[in-house]
Amino acid sequence: MHEPAVPHLKDQDPEIAGLVEDEARRQYEKLRLIASENYVSEAVLEATGTVLTNKYSEGYAGRRYYEGQQNVDPIETLAVERAKALFGAEHANVQPYSGSPANLAVYLAFLEPGDPVMGLSLPMGGHLTHGWSVSATGKWFRPVRYDVRADTGRVDMDQVRDLALKERPKVIWCGGTAIPRTIDFPAFAEIAREAGAVLAADVAHIAGLIAGGAHPSPVGHADVITTTTHKTLRGPRGAMILSTAEHAKAVDKAVFPGLQGGPHDHTTAAIAVALKEAARPGFAAYARQVVANAKVLAAALLDRGYDLISGGTDNHLILIDLTSKGVAGKPAAQALDRAGIELNYNAVPFDPRKPFDPSGLRIGTAAITTRGLDEGRMPQVAAWIDEVVQAAAKQDEAVVERVAGQVRELLAGYPMPGWAPTP
Ligand SMILES: *Cc1c(COP(=O)(O)O)cnc(C)c1O
Repeated sequence: MHEPAVPHLKDQDPEIAGLVEDEARRQYEKLRLIASENYVSEAVLEATGTVLTNKYSEGYAGRRYYEGQQNVDPIETLAVERAKALFGAEHANVQPYSGSPANLAVYLAFLEPGDPVMGLSLPMGGHLTHGWSVSATGKWFRPVRYDVRADTGRVDMDQVRDLALKERPKVIWCGGTAIPRTIDFPAFAEIAREAGAVLAADVAHIAGLIAGGAHPSPVGHADVITTTTHKTLRGPRGAMILSTAEHAKAVDKAVFPGLQGGPHDHTTAAIAVALKEAARPGFAAYARQVVANAKVLAAALLDRGYDLISGGTDNHLILIDLTSKGVAGKPAAQALDRAGIELNYNAVPFDPRKPFDPSGLRIGTAAITTRGLDEGRMPQVAAWIDEVVQAAAKQDEAVVERVAGQVRELLAGYPMPGWAPTP
């Protein structure tokens, strides 16, 4: 049953309550390997479900446009102070509704329409909001895109420097959604300085690893840092912008009144709770375990003949090129999902296939590590992935069903925060 319990929801809207229950069971029974997902704590779940959702509080603590901020002001101040302390940043804004609006705020703070902006191209692991063509950021600004190298699968820093000096972008983005390797923030900072650009680090995927000391921090290198709060950081759906004191005003003005109205106070409270959790020593151990699991899983996949972009991983994320396995990403992902192994199909660098049916799979270890799985379990996970990928190529549903049962059996030994099967 759900924890916190939802008796009123069951009574008032059994249809929605039933679907929530089914989703909880699905999350319990599946090996959740989507690199951007996690399981939040019961405390974070409780904070998101509070009466704070009733409140409006446009503005910032001490400078609001609505009355009745006696409790919201200290909540937001706690979230801001905890964010600054956890990351060692001079300034934090915890109001962006999610990662994409946080990134838009950076555009509003530092660019005029039509200005050049530089980012890692989407099929190479960048994010839509770093100037990709279908995004407003690619339509309203002039995108300059850098790539990864074909031979190493890593960002081509020579190309970044050459492009930055030639195109003179106002903002350079580093970070992305499918980068299995450590981001060299000092190198980006030096290039940005040379080119006269603002360096924006989008650490949405790795914020929890940074907080836990398992990935170098962009603080001290990037002028502005955006992050979601719900990926490795293990908080509610939301985002933050960290910056130097110099850019604090521009960032705050861009978020409100530039882009948004009232902040989501229930989310702000849940962010504060997640930041408190992330400051505990246990979270550093979690972050290290996320990376250790990914490294062992990557090694086990390499042993089984899988091509991994960049040859492995430094963080929570693995990007597989399935070309040599004779199956495309989408049918493989769908078979894996039927087998209780949830992940996403993903483009790989220089992918000859279309974005909606690409060659790769993306895997992350943040959620299964929260569940309590350690390195010892990773060879088994790799073996299941391998069996199901081969089964997908041969359309062998019997294997898929057997693995689904084995996954359910394994996960019954690893409790999930927020739900347990009724005994
Ligand atoms: C997830 C992600 C975002 C967007 O976050 P949303 O909350 O989905 O809008 C932005 N940048 C990067 C690098 C991400 O991984």
